[in-house]
Formats: sequence, structure tokens, C-alpha cells
Amino acid sequence: MSATILLVEDEPAIQELVKFNLQQAGHNVIGTLDAEEALRVIHDVLPDLMLLDWMLPGMSGVELARRLRADARTHDTPIIMLTARGEEHDKIAGLETGADDYITKPFSPRELVARIKAVLRRRAPQMTEDPVEVAGLRLDPVSHRVTGNRLPLDLGPTEFRLLHYLMTHPERVYSRSQLLDQVWGDHVFVEERTVDVHIRRLRRALEPTRHDRLIQTVRGAGYRLSAS
Ligand code: CA
Repeated sequence: MSATILLVEDEPAIQELVKFNLQQAGHNVIGTLDAEEALRVIHDVLPDLMLLDWMLPGMSGVELARRLRADARTHDTPIIMLTARGEEHDKIAGLETGADDYITKPFSPRELVARIKAVLRRRAPQMTEDPVEVAGLRLDPVSHRVTGNRLPLDLGPTEFRLLHYLMTHPERVYSRSQLLDQVWGDHVFVEERTVDVHIRRLRRALEPTRHDRLIQTVRGAGYRLSAS
């Protein structure tokens, strides 16, 4: 699993330590020293997860978390708060800002990596390498293989990512622009009908085992993967 992680931490020694360990774990880390710089970075690159130090010069990590939760662009991006405080009421305050988890300094790098993995697994299952299966259709991110009732199916790279996203978020409707953001990447300027083209290719690839019926068009709304 490799995620782009934004780290907001004003202590250079901790910033370096965390950065090193997350990079060792295969993540791409963007480090910033304060909230204002973090907001500028987020404007350009939407991270997969954000690690926010509680106490920052200027805008605090808590205030930053609150602002990110209120913004449609970062509303769903997982947040883990880093803090030196271990007080129970602070933990509650941290979670009330909408943070997904909370880790108290000093922490072991191993624990941090494990907590990041747990949050991503819960909040962004398409980032993990766990195989997914829906109604006999199975996708394995590690071997990059898709099978329908154990028969191999041949998918192009975009169709693979699209299917992975839909399979890890079943029964939910996604608009074309949401799918563009999630599958093609943020700030990618592609026409919305590109999504339709790839949905068509995906259905065709799933036809041999009749799993194309899992990909449903929801009129006026977008697409959904559903077993029913
Ligand atoms: Ca700090």
C-alpha cells in the first residue's frame, strides 16, 4: 500500500523521523511546518491521508482539522492527529474535530505505520492491497488479476482502477466527476464522458462471466456497483 501523506509538524526532528519511517513503509510524504503552508499544498495536491500535529505555530492542528472537514475538497480525507497531550478530554476534543484517529507522542514509528494502515483500510479501502470479491467477481491488487467465477478476465489499467474503486465502495452511486477525482486523480482535466467510455470497456471486459450486470447506470446520477 502506497499513499500520499501530508505531514504537518513544526518540530524538524519529529518531521524528519516520521517522514523517514513513512517513506520506508512505501508512502510518499509531503512535509510542511505549519497549517498555512499545509493549506497551500492541499490546494495543489490532495493527499490520501493527513497527519496533523496538535500544537502548531499560528493556526493549530485542531483548527486546521476543523477547516479541512468543513471544506468539500478535503471533507473525506482521513486525518490522524499527533499530539504530546495524553489527556482524555483532549482526545475527545481531537475526535470531535472529525479526526479519524489520534496518536500520542512519543509513539513508535511502527505503531504510527500500523495506525495509518488501519485508517486507510477503513476509510480508503482502494488504497490497500486486500483482495476484494463481489458475487464471484474477484480483484487482487497485488497480482493485478481479475477473475469471474475463477475464470481470468482481461482488463486495461484504467478499467482495473475503476473496478477496484467501485468494488471497494459497493452499493453507492458515484457521479462522473467523483469517479474522475477518485480514479483518474485529482486535478486531472478529462471530460466526463471519458468515464462513460471506460465504463463501457469495463462492462465488455466483464461480459464473459456476465459480471457486467454488477455495473449499474443510475440515471441522472452516475454509476454504482451492486450485487443486487
Ligand atoms: Ca508542535
